[in-house]
Amino acid sequence: MTARSVSVENGESEASLDVAVIGAGPAGLGCALALQACGVQRMAIFDRCEVGASFARWPRQMRLITPSFHSNPFRQPDLNAITPKTSPADFLHGEHPTGREYALYLKAVATHYALPVRDGTGVKEIMSTGAEFDVITEKGVVRARNVIWAAGEFSRPDHGGIKGAHHCRHNGEVVDWKLLQGAEHTIIGGYESGIDAAVNLAWLGRDVKVLSRGEPWHVSSPDPSVALSPYTIDRLKAALLEAPGSIHFYKNADISEVTRQRGRWRVHDRAGGVYESETAPILCTGFHGALQPVRHLFHEAEGRLIFSEEADESTLTPGLFYSGPSLVHRGSSFCFIYKFRSRFGVVARAIAQRLGLPWETALRPWQEHGFMLEDLSCCVDCQCAVGAAGREAPEVAEYETLNGREVPAHVQA
Ligand SMILES: Cc1cc2nc3c(=O)[nH]c(=O)nc-3n(C[C@H](O)[C@H](O)[C@H](O)COP(=O)(O)OP(=O)(O)OC[C@H]3O[C@@H](n4cnc5c(N)ncnc54)[C@H](O)[C@@H]3O)c2cc1C
Repeated sequence: MTARSVSVENGESEASLDVAVIGAGPAGLGCALALQACGVQRMAIFDRCEVGASFARWPRQMRLITPSFHSNPFRQPDLNAITPKTSPADFLHGEHPTGREYALYLKAVATHYALPVRDGTGVKEIMSTGAEFDVITEKGVVRARNVIWAAGEFSRPDHGGIKGAHHCRHNGEVVDWKLLQGAEHTIIGGYESGIDAAVNLAWLGRDVKVLSRGEPWHVSSPDPSVALSPYTIDRLKAALLEAPGSIHFYKNADISEVTRQRGRWRVHDRAGGVYESETAPILCTGFHGALQPVRHLFHEAEGRLIFSEEADESTLTPGLFYSGPSLVHRGSSFCFIYKFRSRFGVVARAIAQRLGLPWETALRPWQEHGFMLEDLSCCVDCQCAVGAAGREAPEVAEYETLNGREVPAHVQA
């Protein structure tokens, strides 16, 4: 048995793979589909759970903030599609799918294209042997010529460095907002997931405090990676109108510690402020980067991992590629599906070229539909010709007086 040609899983010999994809979310499946179109045969997609597992675990009420709309034939694919020829809007008949619905779309795509997914096969480690990789799975070692790391970030909640975070509940662990006990909740973090939690709890008739560094609900930017999405702003406005007085905003609250005494929780900020809570505070403090387990295989500069501009490949470990929301080029984050999917074609092309497979015709739909972005100048100019310039985002208080309906403001200066 030569190490070059044979690998072992479950004690059985198996030919070495051309590509091992780690993660069966949108990033892993999207790259695999582009590779399949190029004719890559020896490929496997490993997932510690199953296709779409992260989305299936979102809180029940949480929906994609990026809208779905079927406009693929006009070469403007649905923002949440992972191939040129599918659309979650068309498949699910909705604009903002829940996580569970989006997982159904991913499963349908994987089944339709008969993708070689290996469910329940967690990858513990990737080791470079020089010319190839040993993919150390929970079921054995698999050898592969190329690896695409696409393991997502959802399984790595970030507790924000808060002392006593174990007294809290991370929003990624919430199954259903309805199941949370209590009439009053404290949310730490005021970006997308913090406001999503606040809106859902307000609609359930709960009283909510949102504590946040800075004032995210007042940030105006044309880049949805930086400011609240229009969908979230719309829902916030609706909640403030329909459940007036239920959400209280506390800006510049940089939380350092949470303590618990006599059945109550105390949230401390760095300026000495203390907020009392009757229920376990909810951490909406985000997730660790998706590359944590393999970061030692990438060059790093100023705390950021480096990806080749040609193919999102490690510049330290050739043959190791990344696809997903932690991709950064020229200071711009590819954190949404519509952003990182624009690189599926370039990753597939690099691998197909090395395997000696023709890719030009196969990847033309990817090229024509925006799944093969090569000109990264888009990363450095996100300004719109006619945009919010010169206009500040409205204060939360202003949402509350929309349509002439005067309702009490609950914004603490
Ligand atoms: C709460 C939240 C809301 C978001 N909302 C949006 C949105 O509205 N629109 C948008 O475009 N983006 C959104 N994002 C961005 C998000 O990162 C992407 O939508 C998407 O989940 C990233 O896809 P992925 O394939 O990289 O990761 P995932 O969807 O997380 O898929 C990764 C897969 O890898 C598996 N896995 C993890 N570790 C291993 C391992 N060691 N071995 C084997 N398998 C492993 C997991 O089980 C999972 O199935 C959101 C992110 C979060 C966290």
